[in-house]
Amino acid sequence: MTFPVTDHESTAAPVEPHRVLVLNSGSSSVKYQLLDMRDRSRLASGLVERIGEETSRLVHTPLTGGAEPRERTGRIADHTAALEAAAEELAADGLGLDSPELAAIGHRVVHGGLRFSAPTVITDEVLKEIERLVPVAPLHNPANITGIRTAQALRPDLPQVAVFDTAFHTTMPEAAARYAIDVETADAHRIRRYGFHGTSHAYVSRKTAELLGRAPEEVNIIVLHLGNGASASAVAGGRCVDTSMGLTPLEGLVMGTRSGDIDPAVTFHLKRVAGMSADDIDVLLNKRSGLVGLCGDNDMRVIRRRIDEGDERAALAFDIYIHRLKKYIGAYTAVLGRVDAVAFTAGVGENAAPVREAAIAGLEQLGMAVDASLNAVRSEEPRLISPEYARVAVAVVPTDEELEIADQTFALVGRP
Ligand code: AMP
Repeated sequence: MTFPVTDHESTAAPVEPHRVLVLNSGSSSVKYQLLDMRDRSRLASGLVERIGEETSRLVHTPLTGGAEPRERTGRIADHTAALEAAAEELAADGLGLDSPELAAIGHRVVHGGLRFSAPTVITDEVLKEIERLVPVAPLHNPANITGIRTAQALRPDLPQVAVFDTAFHTTMPEAAARYAIDVETADAHRIRRYGFHGTSHAYVSRKTAELLGRAPEEVNIIVLHLGNGASASAVAGGRCVDTSMGLTPLEGLVMGTRSGDIDPAVTFHLKRVAGMSADDIDVLLNKRSGLVGLCGDNDMRVIRRRIDEGDERAALAFDIYIHRLKKYIGAYTAVLGRVDAVAFTAGVGENAAPVREAAIAGLEQLGMAVDASLNAVRSEEPRLISPEYARVAVAVVPTDEELEIADQTFALVGRP
C-alpha cells in the first residue's frame, strides 16, 4: 500500500512570521524592541529621544552577533522620521521591517479606559476609542496614537496590536475603583481609578507565582513597581483587586517627580493663596514633587550617596518615600486578607537593596522579613530575599514589559 506524498512533504515550508516589533511611543521619544517569538529572544532594541529637537539621538543595539551599539545624533523631525530611522538600523542588521518574518507590531498604549481589558487588534474603530480617551490621558495617549499611525503607514498590511497599561486593573471591584464623589459627575467625566503599569504588574505577579512554584490562581501577591514612576498593586489569585495609581498616574506612592497621594484641597488652596493655574499645579505635582521636590534628586543611587554623606534633606526624602510604601504594604495586606508574597520590581525595586530593607523593616507582625545577605545579592533573575522562617515570601522579580507586550501580541495574531 502506498500513501500519496502531500505538498508540505515535497516542498520546503515557507517561514512562518515569527518576529514581533514592540513600540513604546512617548511624546518625544520612541523605544523599540524586536523579538523572535520562536524562543522569545531579543534581536535588537533601540531608543530615539528628543524627537523634534536639534539634539535628537538614536541609539540602536543589535542583540545578536556581538555587534556594538550604534548612535545617530542630529535632528529627527517627528515620529515618522524616528520610526524610519529605526527601520533603517534594523535593516542594516538584516532585520528589516519589510521582512515576511515580521508577524505583528505590538504597541504600548497607556490608557484603555474601561473598554479594553485585553490586548486588542487595532482597527479604525479601536483607534477612535483610544482617541476618545485622550482627555483622561492627555500626555500619553496622543503619543501612542502617533506611534500607531506611523507604524500603520510603514506596514499597512501588518496586524497592529494595542497592549494597554490599564487592562490588568479592569478586574478591580467597584469598591476599589470608585472615588467617593458625586456619582453623576464622576460618570459624566469618566472619573474613576484606572491604574497603570498593568503590563508590569501582570508579568511580575505571574513570575512571582512561578518563583514560588505555585499557580497564579492559588496565591495573593503585593507587587511594588518602583521605577521613576511607582505603583503598588494587590493581586488575588492572578486578578488585580486594588492598585495605587488612579485616574492618572499621579495617585499613590511617592515617585521620582510625582507627589503621589495628597489632600485634594492642596490644589485649590494653591490656586487661592498662590494664584497658581491648573496647569501650574499639574506641573508642580507631576514634575516638581516626589523625591525631586523633596531633595532635588530623583535618582535613588544619588539619594543614597547623599544620605551616606550626611545630607538631611536626602534622608528625609527617603523616609517619606519609605513611609508611604509601608502604608501601602499594610493597606494591601488588609485588602488581600492573606499575603503569600511581596514582589519588588523596576529600577528602584530591582536595584536598591536599602529601599527593600527599609520598606519591610518592622513588618514581622505581618509575617514579612528580609534576609540581609540575600537582599545584597545582585542578579537579573527572580529571587527570594526573605528568610526561610518568614510566613510571607519577599522577592525581587525583574520586570519585562516589552516581553509581556510581545507575548500578548503574538498570542493574539501569531499562528499556533
Ligand atoms: P525605571 O523607571 O524602572 O527605569 O527606574 C529608574 C529609576 O531606578 C532611577 O531613577 C533610579 O532611581 C533607580 N535605579 C536604577 N538603577 C539603580 C541602582 N543601581 N540603585 C538604586 N536605584 C537605581
